Amino acid sequence: MTEAESIREILRRYWGFEELRPLQAEAIAATLAGRDSLTVLPTGGGKSLCYQLPPLVSGRPTLVVSPLIALMRDQVAGLKLAGVPAAAAHGNLTADESTELRRAVKAGELRLLLVAPERLLMPDFLAMCVKMGVGAIAIDEAHCISQWGHDFRPEYRRLSELREVFPGIPIGAYTATATPRVRDDIAAQLRLQRPVTLVGSFDRPNLTYRVLPRVSLHDQIAEALHRHTDRAGIVYCISRKDSETVAESLRARKIDARAYHAGMDGKMRSRVSDDFRAERLNVVCATVAFGMGIDRGDVRCIVHAAMPKSIEHYQQETGRAGRDGLPAECVLFHSAQDVMRWRQLMERNAEETGSAPEFLQGQLDLLNQMHRLISGARCRHRAIIEYFGQEYGEPSCNACDFCLGELAQVLDSHDTARKIISCVARCQQRYGAAHIAEVLRGSRAERIVRAGHDQLSTFGLLPGLSKDQIVSYINQLIDAGDLERTTDEYPVIRLTGTSVEVLKSLRIANLVEPKVAVAAPKKARQAAGASEPLSAEETQLFEHLRIWRRTLAADRGVPPYVILGDASLEELSRVRPASRQTLINVRGIGSKKIEDFGQDLLEAIRGYCESASMGMDARAGSRRRTLAGAGAEDNQQASSSAPVSRRSGPSSAAGVYFKAGASIDEVIAATGRARSTVCGYLADFIAAERPRSIEAWIDEATYQRVVEGMEAVGGGSFKDVFEHLGGEVSYDQIRWVWAHREAVSA
Ligand code: ADP
Ligand code: ZN
Repeated sequence: MTEAESIREILRRYWGFEELRPLQAEAIAATLAGRDSLTVLPTGGGKSLCYQLPPLVSGRPTLVVSPLIALMRDQVAGLKLAGVPAAAAHGNLTADESTELRRAVKAGELRLLLVAPERLLMPDFLAMCVKMGVGAIAIDEAHCISQWGHDFRPEYRRLSELREVFPGIPIGAYTATATPRVRDDIAAQLRLQRPVTLVGSFDRPNLTYRVLPRVSLHDQIAEALHRHTDRAGIVYCISRKDSETVAESLRARKIDARAYHAGMDGKMRSRVSDDFRAERLNVVCATVAFGMGIDRGDVRCIVHAAMPKSIEHYQQETGRAGRDGLPAECVLFHSAQDVMRWRQLMERNAEETGSAPEFLQGQLDLLNQMHRLISGARCRHRAIIEYFGQEYGEPSCNACDFCLGELAQVLDSHDTARKIISCVARCQQRYGAAHIAEVLRGSRAERIVRAGHDQLSTFGLLPGLSKDQIVSYINQLIDAGDLERTTDEYPVIRLTGTSVEVLKSLRIANLVEPKVAVAAPKKARQAAGASEPLSAEETQLFEHLRIWRRTLAADRGVPPYVILGDASLEELSRVRPASRQTLINVRGIGSKKIEDFGQDLLEAIRGYCESASMGMDARAGSRRRTLAGAGAEDNQQASSSAPVSRRSGPSSAAGVYFKAGASIDEVIAATGRARSTVCGYLADFIAAERPRSIEAWIDEATYQRVVEGMEAVGGGSFKDVFEHLGGEVSYDQIRWVWAHREAVSA
């Protein structure tokens, strides 16, 4: 088998995915070829797979450095569920866990060992790692090594020693931080040698961005969250106090929300984050501290109660939405105060810490960029990714307030623009946006009067507007190229080649402003390339499956999202598999999960569909795999992981009867299972055992009718066949014939 083939097979068997994403393939190939690598992908881009997969190909364990214990725990739980032998080493292991870890290492069982940086460099631990024959090292959240990053951790610094301890072992660094400075710093600090550098697109097409002026904040936040009732949401606030008052007011509006900030005691904080992870709590109002270490993939709504202090922060915080690839919404509420408030905080901080003036200036620059992002009138997706130095190829994103046409045209846009441009000219192109705005509003503030600008002909030309509004218009004119802003320490606004054209009305300027409320929740389905939204019926099944998932997760003491992601639950709700045969085709469900809880899941789906009279096996699922094929994969599972229980349980017991030619009624009597369940077992049995004929359960004429029906509807669904046959042949019978045809032709 070629390397590519074995990667594909591993991907299907353990993760239930059909394809690697392009950069994943390259990162994995680099590691397997023994090369260092630096992979930069946005949150949700699929970094973890890049370092989790190679050890399953090479058979040599990978050491993964990870900054947070909570993150390690969840990752190990997820890996184990997928059938990958993994363990974590950190300061909080119980004595039993430590003993088990040493045993597993000694026995050579592990494929992934996650470790906290400070632990890794302890001599004993290093000795153990060297002995276990590590094949690769992965540094997760690698930007933590750089003081230029927003998340510097001193304990990461010593990772530079790894190069000497593990000569010749490839090191892969993974981060979502895009700035070149941080990237270079990571490579230098880790002493990466000619690293393969892979930088993905920073666009998150499944996120819809909205920016709205703050009017009645608490109502606005509640309204945004109401568009995602019973779904996970995070509200980011600037101060601890804000996070508490917002949470309180949301509770008063019947949204179960809790605050989370660094001022709370540790116990309370972990309770909130544990509840959130376990889906017992959906809405958290937090300062920026919240989110790190939480991999919950189904966050549907991120609200910013105020403007964040940089686009980097905004990208990171909104990045926590929709990690599962399904649509999610990010709403930012702002007012003019935000900039002032951040500026004061930054200045005070600089004073207190005595940091270099360039540092403060750097922060203020980032703040200005953020302010420009929200006051500009252009596609938010485009603005964000251009900020990160990438190009945006689409004419419209269909997933931001601008592209969705939610911004209102300003009446007399063009006249307003002309007034602004002439004011810039009157002020000799020597003043900043705030000053120009004050002059236009007719402010008699001291600096305006001192400059004599209350005497200008443009003084007071825009009396009814707020300063913030005018600044926003100035930013829009800059975006359109009709004005420019210098980049010196005190940026001033200047005219451009097209300014005069606007003044002479040879060119028409267009200004917009946000409507205060969002008209209707539009979703970024199309943009995200996702499938149709679930129907009302399907949504109910989806909710039912979420409860099923939560219950199973609680039983096992793991967070629900490591069981299955929302994308898988959505597909399950659409396809409604009746047997393992169709279950295996649902994305994100690998063989180990099928063995583990496939039967339970099938019964949950069947139970619901029966009570709601919904048809099953409605569509083929996103993947085209047969259970027979999956079974073959299982047989090759020669890795040293704990033995996988092979098709035990009720379905295999039924198989024994079927093999002996027992009828459906006999198997019902023998196993005590419902008819529908037993019919599902038979489909499984046919797919797995490929009996030459199935005439014991279906007569020849009916078999032929179904075959003709299948041919008539081509690649259609069971439902199509069912309808084609005028409802005269049952779904179960169609399913058996289908399974049989697939099995014998495989
Ligand atoms: P990151 O670590 O970059 O934030 P994750 O590793 O958490 O991203 O992956 C994000 C999501 O994408 C997860 O739900 C994961 O299961 C899914 N995913 C990753 N790789 C693939 C793939 N090749 N095919 C389908 N889904 C994938
Ligand atoms: Zn857009």
